[in-house]
Amino acid sequence: MQCNGSCKKYKATDNTREGGRYEQGQKRCNRCEIYIKWEGLWCPCCGYLLRTKPRGTKLKRRISLMKKARMQD
Ligand SMILES: [Zn+2]
Ligand SMILES: [Zn+2]
Repeated sequence: MQCNGSCKKYKATDNTREGGRYEQGQKRCNRCEIYIKWEGLWCPCCGYLLRTKPRGTKLKRRISLMKKARMQD
């Protein structure tokens, strides 16, 4: 599915400080390139998986580094 514009109905308009969007329940759709207020995990417009956390990949990398270090002991 592609963006058909229906995500604009859910567009998050709050103009608060950066980084607080996810805490307010706002989610990012990378396909629609928009922040929306939506309870589900999937975009109601295009069906793409929404981003719910700002720094997920960095944290994952740190955990895998810790595991590596432990294995070398
Ligand atoms: Zn859309
Ligand atoms: Zn979307």
